[in-house]
Amino acid sequence: NHLVNQIAAGEVIERPASIVKELLENSLDADADQISVYLEAGGSKSIRVIDNGHGISEADLALAITSHATSKISNLYELEHVTSMGFRGEALASIAAVSQMQILSRTPESDNAYQITNQKTITAAAHPIGTTIWVRDLFFNIPARKRFLKTEKSEFSQCQEWFRRIAISRPEVSFALHHNNKLVTRFAAGASNYEASRLAYVFGPAAKEHTTFIDEVRAGVRLWGWVGHPNLAQSQANKQFFYVNGRFIKDRLVAHAVKQAYRDTLYGQRQPVFLLHIELAPEQVDVNAHPAKQEVRFHQGRLVHDFIYSTLHHALAKPQS
Ligand code: ADP
Ligand code: MG
Repeated sequence: NHLVNQIAAGEVIERPASIVKELLENSLDADADQISVYLEAGGSKSIRVIDNGHGISEADLALAITSHATSKISNLYELEHVTSMGFRGEALASIAAVSQMQILSRTPESDNAYQITNQKTITAAAHPIGTTIWVRDLFFNIPARKRFLKTEKSEFSQCQEWFRRIAISRPEVSFALHHNNKLVTRFAAGASNYEASRLAYVFGPAAKEHTTFIDEVRAGVRLWGWVGHPNLAQSQANKQFFYVNGRFIKDRLVAHAVKQAYRDTLYGQRQPVFLLHIELAPEQVDVNAHPAKQEVRFHQGRLVHDFIYSTLHHALAKPQS
């Protein structure tokens, strides 16, 4: 199949955090505006994601867990113009192969909900409009991989990291994260809640005073977000959030431009804190380059690099209160 060959080799489900990421992205692609995650034992025992999105019809349930079956793109043109988070049609099939998976879902058009398990048997179920995906006993059938899982604490914190990365990218969606039956993190929807919770998480309680907001456009590329002031610089690199068309990335070209801009001002070598978005036409960026690595390829890399560098340099060079 030509299309399949165009899609980079499938990512392997390595750990609970990879599942949390894939399930959250699916909920966003389904236009959910309320998403709850329930984890047990760092996610290795159970991961449940509940959303109020558009659901999966009875007819599409079996396809959802079939490898290379995606409802999001149907040809090469769409692959080069991806606007959804998912497009490989592989995540659920990969997860189903290494766990006990159950999907419950109801579409707005249907009076009934349906469920499917790994065994692909479809039965009637009770569920509001939206989808619950329940992944239990990760790697029960692959002991060698199960042994590679770290401690519960470490697996949980990696799940939480992806939960935050995705929640921070979507102010209009409310997110809740539970671990071992306790509510751990909650992000309410809406702009003022965004400032109170997501921005405060990244920049601390006085986020507004310690950041400069930027919003610039050059050659059809928009760069916007918040750059942290020097007093926020810290030793860990875990408060650096960069999104391309809403997708969290860690990209060498972007990292280099940001680092240069900070270095060429009074920030010196310390780890900067920032939350930035780049938005550009989907055909200007290849998000298919490295499935698991969060790397992308900009078609006009030089332009993007210089734009990031000069915008940040200008914002950081301004006198700050
Ligand atoms: P992809 O996201 O690349 O299409 P996945 O394996 O992640 O592939 O999902 C397969 C399909 O299952 C999706 O294309 C979508 O049609 C459906 N699906 C998965 N999760 C959800 C969800 N939470 N709500 C609605 N549909 C979903
Ligand atoms: Mg997906």
